[in-house]
Amino acid sequence: MRIDILTLFPDLCDRVLSESVIGRARQNGIIEVNCHNIRDYTTDKHRRVDDYPYGGGKGMILQADPIYRCYEAIREETGGKPHLIYLSPQGKTLTQQKARELAALPNLALLCGHYEGIDERVIEEIVDEELSIGDYVLTGGELPALVVADCVARMLPGVLADEVCFTEESHFAGLLEYPQYSRPAEWHGRAVPQVLLNGDHKKVDAWRAEQALRRTQEKRPDLLKKEHF
Ligand code: SAM
Repeated sequence: MRIDILTLFPDLCDRVLSESVIGRARQNGIIEVNCHNIRDYTTDKHRRVDDYPYGGGKGMILQADPIYRCYEAIREETGGKPHLIYLSPQGKTLTQQKARELAALPNLALLCGHYEGIDERVIEEIVDEELSIGDYVLTGGELPALVVADCVARMLPGVLADEVCFTEESHFAGLLEYPQYSRPAEWHGRAVPQVLLNGDHKKVDAWRAEQALRRTQEKRPDLLKKEHF
């Protein structure tokens, strides 16, 4: 899969996605990530990419043209139209299911806004969908884009050691994950549940299923009311 990020802070994005699991997946050629500086596509001699909002008001707006030209350059490179997501507090909230759908695409492009946002006309012209990471406002789309890229990339075959690593995790099947323990078997007077120490995998599976349901009921009962597939 190829992910392109359109941003004013390409080094920040590239650095985060060069670490740990995603960094290894990039090194192993499972995923290609390209971070593009929108500023490289301005025709302004001072490399400006923002201007005042029509109608007045505080803050600056990212102009349409540098974004459009950056996107066109990516489109030429990929030889087709990548699915372009604008990270926006006005978008639908990212879910595990959405990340799963995005992981099936060959090309994904993530557009990061900044300042007061971006010129509406470029959203209308090139954006396929808007995604939010929650009902709050951040200063830029970089953190949301990194969240989307990480969440999508870890579901690609070969990125994690085994598919079970994410299929058993919270939200994949609509439940939260069961509690996890590692050595030592007793810590600060707290013992690991006995069922996990006996080597009976059927009993372990049954205990985990029951725990997953129980903690979903306790922590996120709203999830049990949603439909999942
Ligand atoms: N004026 C915009 C509004 O009220 O909808 C908010 C602009 S915000 C300060 C700047 C940029 O940060 C946005 O263009 C978007 O790319 C990004 N952003 C902020 N909060 C976000 C969120 N919750 N999810 C996704 N992107 C977000």
